[in-house]
Amino acid sequence: MENADIAKIFSDIADILEIREENPFRIRAYRNGALTLENLSERLAKIVERDPKQLRELPGIGEDLAAKIVEAVTTGKISFYEKLLTQIPRTLLDLMRIQGIGPRKARLFYKKLKVESIEDLEEAAKAGKLQNLPGMGKKSERKILQAIADFRGRDSKRFSLFRVLPHVEALVDYLKNGFKGIEVTPSGSVRRRKETIGDIDILVAGGNASKIMGHFVQYREVKNVLAKGETKSSIVLNNGLQVDVRVIGKGSHGSALHYFTGSKEHNVAIRDRAKRMGLKISEYGVFREKTGKRVGGKTEAEVFKAVGLSWIPPEMRENRGEIELAEKGELPKLIELSDMQGDLHMHTQASDGSHSIEEMALAAKKAGRKYVAITDHSKAVTVAHGLDEKQMLQHMKEIDKVNEKIDGIEVLKGVEVDILKEGLLDLEDAVLEKMDVVVGSIHSHFGMEEKAMTKRILQAIETGFVDIVGHPTGRLLGERSAYAVDMEKLMDAARSNHVALELNAYPNRLDLSDIYCKMARDKGVWLVISTDSHSTAQLENMIYGIYTARRGWLEKEHVLNTRPCAEFKKILHR
Ligand SMILES: [Zn+2]
Ligand SMILES: [Zn+2]
Repeated sequence: MENADIAKIFSDIADILEIREENPFRIRAYRNGALTLENLSERLAKIVERDPKQLRELPGIGEDLAAKIVEAVTTGKISFYEKLLTQIPRTLLDLMRIQGIGPRKARLFYKKLKVESIEDLEEAAKAGKLQNLPGMGKKSERKILQAIADFRGRDSKRFSLFRVLPHVEALVDYLKNGFKGIEVTPSGSVRRRKETIGDIDILVAGGNASKIMGHFVQYREVKNVLAKGETKSSIVLNNGLQVDVRVIGKGSHGSALHYFTGSKEHNVAIRDRAKRMGLKISEYGVFREKTGKRVGGKTEAEVFKAVGLSWIPPEMRENRGEIELAEKGELPKLIELSDMQGDLHMHTQASDGSHSIEEMALAAKKAGRKYVAITDHSKAVTVAHGLDEKQMLQHMKEIDKVNEKIDGIEVLKGVEVDILKEGLLDLEDAVLEKMDVVVGSIHSHFGMEEKAMTKRILQAIETGFVDIVGHPTGRLLGERSAYAVDMEKLMDAARSNHVALELNAYPNRLDLSDIYCKMARDKGVWLVISTDSHSTAQLENMIYGIYTARRGWLEKEHVLNTRPCAEFKKILHR
């Protein structure tokens, strides 16, 4: 099991214990444990392999949780969790995937109305049975119905890239270690770095196919084997992810990789193009249609070259115009992680982060950044202990101190200021004026109508204080849809007011999406990519922003924080 899976189980356990009204300390222990694992950059399996005792050095991991982690990485399950699952209806946990429903509400509905699933809940809400429960009303009942509809509208079976990639890496290692001289390459949406993944596709080139198949289905994390064939097998991992592995001959590696990387739309367009040129492209190679003569397929570059194109980066293969650019030799030089000099959104212990200013700055330096902006929350976000004017000024003094103390990274004074309901900012002008970087974000009233929401953000932009609009659509992948906003208008206003839009690299946000990144690129709107880190480990999430940026065709020049600090500041303070 990978870190994120164990974290998820710990948080499920906390939910179940809370539904059963068990000891609050125990519940909190599991929640804290889950949080620690989510923020851990090293693989738990590695730590256990080295010395399981080191687990106890992690914050919030005591003897009990450490033992469960060891059990999870060595056996692939946690028996305590399995046992708990037999004591409540398993579908009850699904309720908490509905926006606004936590363990307390789930317990209330379960106890009072025998609601055991999302279907039960919908039925109860439609029958008007929820509104009379304590703490509920007509409005909250309506909200729940809306949230259920939202939930159904999302593809809830998909996994975020963040949860999938560690498994892909572990699987590739496992397959490689078993055999010499084979090439193991992830393909499909994983290779295209899509924000969510349906299943994992892995290609193996070379080697003894039946031995590789035998090795694959014995992978430690296998929950069940769906199919085991001569050259293709499918398994389901303990966390529900499906993995397909195909073995192909080395001579077809390129054509197979292209074929299985997709996307479908891209492949169809390439095949049509080949046809017009008298060629046929399949996973086995490129062939002359008339004679059947094979003209390529060993490498992907060969496949593209056969149809008169330069090699297209996988992230761009969505048939959104990349083929036309490749034909003209005008593909963009996509942004890379090493281009990122600054990180302009992060939190410290002063609001809802876990580390100090100094710890964040030094960790960012280690991650390769040359400058950061510390952007704690403003006072409206009470759950995140947002700072008021006086506290903010004090905090800025602390930032000055850190700047004097440490070398090799510049720390900018910033804030993530709330954009209030009417478009006003949550701090006085006199304080905002003193900031190097002001990120303006929406954290409340997500349900406003598009017109009002657009007006709200535009008003914030027009105050002249906002440098960057943070997570501009507010979506949380698999949890909360984007709020309604007129993106054309927002982008036009950002451009004319010299305000940048953020690509928030937090793995369950990736906000802006790839499509909006491309739109910003086309419109000439400034972008920044920031991690919104709440701990030092999360500073490494910059790579997820880069994946999305590449899918949105962004180049270094489109992203302001690829520039040196002095230049960045000059642009900001027009
Ligand atoms: Zn935020
Ligand atoms: Zn934030």
